[in-house]
Amino acid sequence: MQETVSIGLNLIGGEWKSCRRGETYELYNPADQRVVLGRFQNSTEEDANDAVRAAKAAFSGWASLPAPKRAEIVYEAWSILKKRSEEFSLAITVEEGKPLADSRGEVKRSANVLEFCAGEGRRLGGDTIPSELPKTFIWTYRRPIGVVAVITPWNFPLSIPVWKIAPALIAGNTIVFKPASITPGIGIKLCNLFMDAGLPPGVLNMITGPGGSVGRALVENVDVRGVSFTGSTETGRWIYEYAAKYMKKAQCEMGGKNAVIVAADADVDLAVEGVVQGAFGSSGQRCTATSRVVVDSSIKKVFMDKLLEKTRSLKVGPGTATATDVGPLSSRTQLEKVLFYISDAVNEGAKLVAGGRRLTGEDLDHGYYVEPTIFDEVTTDMRIAREEVFGPVLSVLSGSGMDELLQIANDSTYGLSGSIYTKDIARAMKYAHESEVGMIHINSPTLGGEAQAPFGGIKASGIGPREQGKRAVEFFTEEVVVYLDFTGSKREAKFI
Ligand code: NAD
Repeated sequence: MQETVSIGLNLIGGEWKSCRRGETYELYNPADQRVVLGRFQNSTEEDANDAVRAAKAAFSGWASLPAPKRAEIVYEAWSILKKRSEEFSLAITVEEGKPLADSRGEVKRSANVLEFCAGEGRRLGGDTIPSELPKTFIWTYRRPIGVVAVITPWNFPLSIPVWKIAPALIAGNTIVFKPASITPGIGIKLCNLFMDAGLPPGVLNMITGPGGSVGRALVENVDVRGVSFTGSTETGRWIYEYAAKYMKKAQCEMGGKNAVIVAADADVDLAVEGVVQGAFGSSGQRCTATSRVVVDSSIKKVFMDKLLEKTRSLKVGPGTATATDVGPLSSRTQLEKVLFYISDAVNEGAKLVAGGRRLTGEDLDHGYYVEPTIFDEVTTDMRIAREEVFGPVLSVLSGSGMDELLQIANDSTYGLSGSIYTKDIARAMKYAHESEVGMIHINSPTLGGEAQAPFGGIKASGIGPREQGKRAVEFFTEEVVVYLDFTGSKREAKFI
């Protein structure tokens, strides 16, 4: 008997549709390639343009709804997501591969963002500004940009789309959302969530398919006035260049090479705990994952002994198993990339001290499992210290004293997140002021963030207004200033 495979459709103008040429692609569970997750639309530029047309048609109606009314729908989405959090968590684990505990964290974060953004609907105000002219009133207000494209990666298939879509909706924009090709199922669930919450047709549209054609077509469409992108630095660089050329707004959150400094006075147990969580949690497939640790030579031996012991105790397996600490990588491409970086590091002379292999045997043969891997004696010129691996691979570097540790940590083209372990307030403050990253942690892992705080990187990790927090609506609005002259007659003032 033939098994039925579910078919994921595109959402255009409130209707679920096949793509114009009727082609689909198949997706498999990253923990077990024998399990088909479904077939999804292999859309083309034509579908992307259809979705933009639908978003454009819905714009004036949505933009003219008062912001607190738009916010009611976002509140409703929050309320539904909370009730269905376990279902969403399981769906993330099955499609992306991360352990259930991590998926639950992602759903909680998404709910927090919806709650926070909904509140912003009542705060979408402007300023009143004193004029130097008599009987003149100056005020500002925020207008939506128009149609925006939301282009997202696979590693946080729910929370990243949520933290872009929710502020875009509150601000009055209409959206074409393109989820990553390997996590379209979560994208579909998210669109259904907003529709169940009462979002009118055409306000949120979604198309699946390859980034190089569908994503590109969205960026290039003249009716798309803003692009909110999260993904690799390579794609982000192209989007930013294109947006600059055609005067579109663009916001790009990209890769990282996040370092933890373990200072001479650090609580070593706490540091080990934070480094292991940061490096191997979600299989290292977080943009904020710990990729480098820079440890003071004076405590290196004790740190390494504890780090290796803790790393070797991690259990690798399917994300649905309760005992699992480290799940599979999300795709074959990811697996090949991570294994390439491991062999390249060995060739460059880094010392492999833990892991380093693809895991096989029993059910692991059917998934993309890699051992938590540590390289010691890494130097700043090695590729393993410079490029983003995006897998469970940690590089250990060392130096002496705060200046050298900081200089090594800052020696990166990336600048997303970073952390220091120290009990010394002077070292902590020096780090907070001199670390070249957008998100700084002191005595906690490089990971995470809260819905009400800004999120984003500097250098090659991020460009454009920050996401999340109270400034999230900045990107999705244009600030307009209005001068009202109520003298009622000709005035003498000179204008420049
Ligand atoms: P990616 O750049 O390959 O893809 C991201 C999205 O862009 C996908 O939806 C893809 O289909 C689309 N895309 C690809 N080419 C495109 C093009 N030419 N035009 C328009 N869209 C295009 O990245 P990925 O592999 O999906 O994600 C992993 C990367 O994302 C890592 O580098 C990671 O660090 C980064 N990331 C960054 C953050 C952050 O907030 N800084 C968060 C999560 C992930």
